[in-house]
Amino acid sequence: MPELRKDPVLGRWIIIARERGKRPSDFVIVESPGSGGFCPLCPGNENTTPNEVLAYGRESNIINSPGWKVRVVPNKYPALVIEGDLNREGEGLYDKMNGIGAHEVVVESPNHDDVFSELPSEHMIMIFKAFQVRIKDLEHDDRFRYVLVFKNYGKAAGASLEHSHSQLVALPVLPRKIESELAGALTYYNYKERCVYCDIISQELKQDIRVVCKNEYFITITPFAPRTPFEMWILPIRHSSAYHEQDDRQLASLAEIFSESLCRLDACIPKVPYNFVLHTQPLRSPHMDHFHWHFEIVPKLTSIAGFEWGSGFYINPMPPEEAASYLRESLERIS
Ligand SMILES: [Zn+2]
Ligand SMILES: [Zn+2]
Ligand SMILES: [Zn+2]
Repeated sequence: MPELRKDPVLGRWIIIARERGKRPSDFVIVESPGSGGFCPLCPGNENTTPNEVLAYGRESNIINSPGWKVRVVPNKYPALVIEGDLNREGEGLYDKMNGIGAHEVVVESPNHDDVFSELPSEHMIMIFKAFQVRIKDLEHDDRFRYVLVFKNYGKAAGASLEHSHSQLVALPVLPRKIESELAGALTYYNYKERCVYCDIISQELKQDIRVVCKNEYFITITPFAPRTPFEMWILPIRHSSAYHEQDDRQLASLAEIFSESLCRLDACIPKVPYNFVLHTQPLRSPHMDHFHWHFEIVPKLTSIAGFEWGSGFYINPMPPEEAASYLRESLERIS
């Protein structure tokens, strides 16, 4: 069973996911072979994954059979396990608990070579819908406090399988990053009685130097203080703290802007590896006037080195105003 351990100074939780028999030599970095080989996420191989928890697009009602368009399965090698109790306990001054959680894989398409950013809008909507449905379902489990939705695209960004997929991890504690965002947003709200993200959106629209694109319901900006070149945030223009409450029209608008933002990024730097994460309100939380859900897209262009590890400071060689202007012009250049 994995174990969650809390750093007594920072309050940060880490996961010890011991794999039996791991020795130092197992951590030596070996260049993995390129493409090819068996893919557990391809249609026809459904029986090699744990039983699916959701599938869209299949005409038959036989579970774990081909014919699906989007499929969600528990991760075969989960960072946290679903069975068991938390057993919170102390060990002297240290706090720990069992590594209970859910770790799921959202297989984004049946086609092995499909690329997320190039999926048609109707297809992308199903993926965003799947995130919502899984969050709502996991919310019923009292042991969980947060569901983190994320994607690793490209080997450099941590993707271990080529087949297009994203992931969800349900956690029994609030991630430190979310806690900091909630606290920062609340401090601003208590002082100004306005949502900081709503204020950011209205200032960005006025200044119009970091806006990448916008549509009916969403806006993509390069944030004022980005960690990496071409970091982008996608936010709903109207205030909302809960991603899972967006209706179908809003999801369609989200799919459209997500695909446009990633295509603009790809036009600037073809096939750039990236991570995206969804930041939304904690599970079972009432509506929050101070927090505003959003996606953060972080291209993997710089490596985290000693200075960043030691200080938490990021050095970014590209001002977001320039990145936004490249992103705005990128599609026009190609066409
Ligand atoms: Zn595949
Ligand atoms: Zn807001
Ligand atoms: Zn965030």
